[in-house]
Order: sequence, then structure tokens, then C-alpha cells
Amino acid sequence: MESGAARDVVILGSGPAGLTAAIYAARGELRPVVLEGEPSSSSDQPGGQLMLTTEVENFPGFTHGVLGPELMVSMRAQAERFGAEIHTERASRVDLASTPFGIWIGDPDAAEPTLRARALIIATGARSLMLGLENEARLLGYGVSTCATCDGFFFRDKRIVVVGGGDSALEEALFLTKFGDSVTVVHRRKELRASKIMQDRAFKNDKITFRWDSVVTDVLGGERVTGVRVRDANTGEESDIVADGVFVAIGHAPTTELFAGKLQIDEAGYLVTHEGTKTNVPGVFACGDVQDHVYRQAVTAAGSGCMAAIDAERYLSSLASS
Ligand code: NAP
Repeated sequence: MESGAARDVVILGSGPAGLTAAIYAARGELRPVVLEGEPSSSSDQPGGQLMLTTEVENFPGFTHGVLGPELMVSMRAQAERFGAEIHTERASRVDLASTPFGIWIGDPDAAEPTLRARALIIATGARSLMLGLENEARLLGYGVSTCATCDGFFFRDKRIVVVGGGDSALEEALFLTKFGDSVTVVHRRKELRASKIMQDRAFKNDKITFRWDSVVTDVLGGERVTGVRVRDANTGEESDIVADGVFVAIGHAPTTELFAGKLQIDEAGYLVTHEGTKTNVPGVFACGDVQDHVYRQAVTAAGSGCMAAIDAERYLSSLASS
């Protein structure tokens, strides 16, 4: 990539947040550069987490739903149509100590940054932690899910397994009781990590049962999930649980490694934003899942991407007029 003069806006990430920021910034004639990530990297999947889903039925505007990858391809093309410059690269280092900010691609020890930006929008997202099983990856979108809000609807009157023992797992389990016939929470220990209030709610719900001290060793099924295999942590004995859906809810990891020590990050590892999408460094904005551990939806990420572009535009105008 040509380094050249500093760019107005550089956007890191190309999920719904990054590409919506790109659409708005491009239409605002800020000629944004988007580093969309690299396909080989699990945390930098161009297009973000929607590239790993199948049907998306809750993104407004699609009466009959849309495939996750199709939605992201359209968003990318829309951003390019307005002049966003999209590169299939990832940032290896950022310098936020002075402006214009420095962004390195490739060798992080290079003396000079690859490009400079007057405003930086961070939309590097988060990834769901996974069990790391081969069949879990193969059946993702075919019965394996990481988002009950997104996919619960597809499991009406079905048998569902939720893996995990934290607040996320119980929140997913409780939500899924609206659809599923039964919900089995599989947890690797006997004590839940979840808060007392969530535990009480889950214990009171007739549709939820618990499988304690159980480690999921395989996800079963050919074209779609038919169950999970679990190993009893005490006896080592293996048994199968029949299920149509498996929701993995063992936590999320926001992609914030690049910003450690440079931006304010909360205890769970998410970027801290205030007054919309501002970080603690003027001119650096964050949007989407990298700063949101509450909603985590494509549409909320897109909304915050729009906010970040507007915030960046106002910041740049304030620089120009001062
Ligand atoms: P978490 O609190 O870290 O819990 C993760 C759970 O998954 C733990 O029970 C853990 O088991 C289990 N786990 C982790 N890796 C595993 C593996 N490889 N195999 C099997 N099980 C595994 O994560 P979280 O539930 O996503 O919550 C994250 C934060 O968000 C927490 O602070 C939580 O309170 C908050 N949150 C709050 C709400 C709410 O208030 N409504 C909702 C969601 C999240 P162990 O217990 O054995 O470690």
C-alpha cells in the first residue's frame, strides 16, 4: 500500500460496524481506508462474525431473511460504491500518542507506519469463544450457534443444548426456553459461574435441566446437529445427549490486543467509549462488538458504525475550524 499523505479516516475492521462507518464516511467525502482483516486469521475474518452464520432473519429490510455472507458482501460493495478504499490487510501496530495516528501493516517494527490517519475508527469486533472441536466448526450455522437472539427462532419445539456455566449461558438458556421444547445446560463443573439471580431464574424454569461435571467432547450430526457427546468429568464415562441445536456460550473475546496500554479497556477486555463512540484518545472512535458486550447484534453494530463515522466527521470539522 502507498503510504503517502495522512488520510482523513482509517477504519479497522469490516463487520457491520466497520462497513457502515465506511459507507457514512465515504458518503461524507472523507475517502476512508478500510483494513478489512485477513481471511486466514480467526479474529480478523473480513466481514466479521456474520461470515460464519447462515440465515439472518432479524436484520431490518429483508422480509425473508438474508444469508450472513451475502449481507456482508452487499455492505462491502455499497461502501466501495461511495469510494471507500478497502484493503485485505490487518494492522499490526498503531501509534495513538500523536496525530496523525500511525498504522502499521506487516512488520510492526518498521521505523515508519504504513499509513497515517487524522481520525481512526476501530471496529475490530469480538469473537465467540468456541470449544475447539472439529465438528463444532463444521456444523456452525447448521445447528451449532453462538447467538440465541439470532438463531433461537429456528429451534421452535426442538431439543436444545447450551454449553457453559456463566451469565451468558444462562441468559441464552432462558431465552431459548421461549422456543425450544427442552434446554439442557451442559457445564464442566458442579458450580455455576453465573450470578445468583440468573441461577435462581434458571433453576425455576421447568424447561431447563442441567448436566453437571460434563465436558462436551464432540458435536454429532451429518448435515445438521443431532446431539453432543459428553464425558463425565468424574468417571470419564462418555454418553450422548440428543439435540437439534447446540448453543456455545462460554464467553467472548474482543479484539483489542493492538490497543493494550494505548486506549482505555475495561475489565472484560472491551474498549471503553463515552459520548457516543469516543474513546479516551481524541480522534479515535470505537464501534460494534469491540466496545459492546451487551447487545452484540449486527444491527446495533451497524448503528454504532454510523455513529462513529458521524463522530469522526465532526471531530475532523472541529480541527479544520480551529
Ligand atoms: P464467563 O463468565 O467467563 O463464563 C464462561 C463459562 O463458560 C464458565 O462457566 C466456564 O466454565 C465456561 N467455559 C469456559 N471455557 C470453556 C470450555 N472450553 N469448555 C466448557 N466450558 C467452558 O463468560 P460469560 O458468561 O460470557 O460472561 C462474561 C461477562 O459478561 C461476565 O462478567 C458476566 O457476568 C457478564 N454477563 C452478564 C449478563 C447479565 O447480567 N445478564 C449476561 C451475559 C454476560 P468455568 O465456570 O468452569 O470456568
